[in-house]
Amino acid sequence: MYCQVVLRSATRAFDREYTYAVPGILQEKLAVGSRVLVPFGSGNRLVEGVVTAMQRDNRSEFYIKPIAELLAERPEVLPEQLQLAAQMRNRYICTYGDALKCMLPPTVTAVGAKTIRMAELVDPDEAAQRLADGEIDRIGHIRVIELLLESGSAPLQEIMHACQVSRAVLNTLVKKQLIQIFTQESRRSFPEELEYVSQESFLPSPDQADAIRAISEALTSDRQSVTQVKEHLLFGITGSGKTEVYLQCAQLAVDLGRGVIILVPEIALTPQMIRRIRSRFGTDIAVLHSRLTPAERYEQWQRILRQEVQVVVGARSAIFAPLSHIGLIVIDEEQESTYKSETHPRYHARDIARMRARNHQAVLLLGSATPSIESYYRTEQGRSRLLALPGRIGSAGLPKAEIIDMRQELLAGNRGIFSRKLSQSLRDAFRKGHQAILLINRRGYAGFILCRTCGHVVKCRSCSVSMTSHVNRDHAGLPRSQHLLVCHYCGKIARAPSTCPACGSDKIGRFGAGTQQVEEYFNLNFAPHKAIRMDQDTTSGRRSHQRLLDSFANGEADVLIGTQMIAKGHDFPNVTVSGVLSADLMLGVSDFRSSERAFALITQTAGRSGRGEAGGTVIIQAYNVDDYAVRLAAAQDYPGFYRQEITYRRAMKYPPFGSLAIITLSGVQEKPVREKCETLASALRVRRQSEPGLDSVEILTPARAPLYRIKDRYRWRLVIKGSDSTVLAAFLMPVMDRFDFGKIAYALDLDPYQML
Ligand code: ADP
Ligand code: ZN
Ligand code: ZN
Repeated sequence: MYCQVVLRSATRAFDREYTYAVPGILQEKLAVGSRVLVPFGSGNRLVEGVVTAMQRDNRSEFYIKPIAELLAERPEVLPEQLQLAAQMRNRYICTYGDALKCMLPPTVTAVGAKTIRMAELVDPDEAAQRLADGEIDRIGHIRVIELLLESGSAPLQEIMHACQVSRAVLNTLVKKQLIQIFTQESRRSFPEELEYVSQESFLPSPDQADAIRAISEALTSDRQSVTQVKEHLLFGITGSGKTEVYLQCAQLAVDLGRGVIILVPEIALTPQMIRRIRSRFGTDIAVLHSRLTPAERYEQWQRILRQEVQVVVGARSAIFAPLSHIGLIVIDEEQESTYKSETHPRYHARDIARMRARNHQAVLLLGSATPSIESYYRTEQGRSRLLALPGRIGSAGLPKAEIIDMRQELLAGNRGIFSRKLSQSLRDAFRKGHQAILLINRRGYAGFILCRTCGHVVKCRSCSVSMTSHVNRDHAGLPRSQHLLVCHYCGKIARAPSTCPACGSDKIGRFGAGTQQVEEYFNLNFAPHKAIRMDQDTTSGRRSHQRLLDSFANGEADVLIGTQMIAKGHDFPNVTVSGVLSADLMLGVSDFRSSERAFALITQTAGRSGRGEAGGTVIIQAYNVDDYAVRLAAAQDYPGFYRQEITYRRAMKYPPFGSLAIITLSGVQEKPVREKCETLASALRVRRQSEPGLDSVEILTPARAPLYRIKDRYRWRLVIKGSDSTVLAAFLMPVMDRFDFGKIAYALDLDPYQML
């Protein structure tokens, strides 16, 4: 007997299937998906691999080495997952090992003690960034950080075992201020393990019934008819009954003996949500989220593999669950950017879901109140079927949204962060004992230039995204006339204007107030009313996140001030006022998706208030009041927004009409990084010219990355455009595989969501 094996840690150059002989004692046990140790290379070093195929004969004339060891009694990767790994390899230009890493959980030892020493990242965003920059180069360090990025926190014992590192390595990471160690009671009961009351399905409304019927037909349709559209987009505002549709469709799939994966954004994986799913499926579900320790994650994963559960609920990485016979994959809030992984391989869960749905002939159900432009476009193309839930369940109507023109406030002498209308509404709400939420955008450091008189935003002429000013990074201390603006797409640099190019006003400049400023302003003007602030600073470590939300829900504060994380998934019946403080700020993010994000965020925030009896007020403050995203979000007009946005995307060849790739190179000295980036660009240009059919590919000039110096490392990057991601990946692959990057670290992001 022989078998084919792929290695878990090979470079692309060595990443292929290798033939090994199966020793007699392993012939019964070894199967496709088995994890094994094999001798590799001339030194016969033992490396880990996964069996991808079994075969009787072997045609090679060379000596075939035998498998050294079987690492787990039973196969741990499904045949379909191996197929998926091969698909990911081509789609993301990664290795089998990179893909398999997404599918195998960390191995673990049991945890018994009463209290355990745990570790977590000091700042997950920064750690991810430093990882992406190749700044962390010791393999042990990388493993620990990747593990913690995925699991949030984990016991030291498990980290050491899973990552094969010593305590000394962890101490080094503590010294480097990358991780911190704390003591925790060993958690045996999770909020989501608490009691649940089993609940019958609701009688579906006529719209829900239509949607369920369509999914049911797709579930039972002839498995041979590959042409049938199995993708659906369930489009309905918050409270329109989407989750009820997911649950009833999941039940249908389970009744047919098929598996179900339900993905929700991490932030929506609240105990309430899990309880709601349990109320239908009892304990026969596996929940995968970032608060699980590796041991718990491993246990859940084993239950799935042993086919003890048919329903898996989880955040992004749950899309890789080893579930067989998948019949239905649901992605709730499909437009969320948390479905995009920011560590290598930078997959998008929606793309993986499409691959797996195709592999299993399964139905894909995307749900959203504000669908991504890409997904909505597919329904117009006939590649996905639109199912709409037009109204809210029950009588609760939509709150009224009002746009406040902050230019008028300025004219009237109000220089504060809150408009007069907002201040008044807050006071009215507090008097009645109601609460409010105030939303501000997160990105503070990369500002843009806005005219406070006319609302004009300075944009790049060739890319039509706003130019970014990096005042407090590279140009601190320089007079304003020397501030430079950078386009994050083409790298074009321009001087910041001192008067508005549109109206000539001199009230033009960098714009933005952070969450902290808003909190201070609130305390100054509204004391003794209390505020809770929620942003990256106050919620690091993830454990505090739920605590802050709970104390707000318990009425311990009158207002919740925060970034986008407050707009989602939570139900606060006592909130009657929501305010979006700087709708413009969201538009200023130099990214072709900024309008889409702003639209979704404003719509969601609006949907937050008035869920209870009292009705609601939504106040949207902006300078640029004519912007279509702001205007149409206030009117809750998604179709109107879609029509505007799709025109812009088509004109600029942005997705869904084209695809982008970003290759970022970094190193401690700038010159070699820049030169390598230029050589890479020439290599790509040669390839484009030497092969026909690549006319759609466009290679932009190498440019400094928007954040071009991070922690003493210089970053340059190359943006490449193509007609779609398949074309782009096929174009890049041969060059990326052969190019000699030398000592320069590089990262490839196909279809990026973060332009910084
Ligand atoms: P969404 O997921 O779109 O926000 P949900 O499914 O959570 O909407 O529904 C909103 C509320 O309406 C929930 O409290 C849910 O229990 C209730 N609900 C949903 N469908 C029905 C129905 N057919 N009949 C009665 N109540 C329903
Ligand atoms: Zn102006
Ligand atoms: Zn540009």
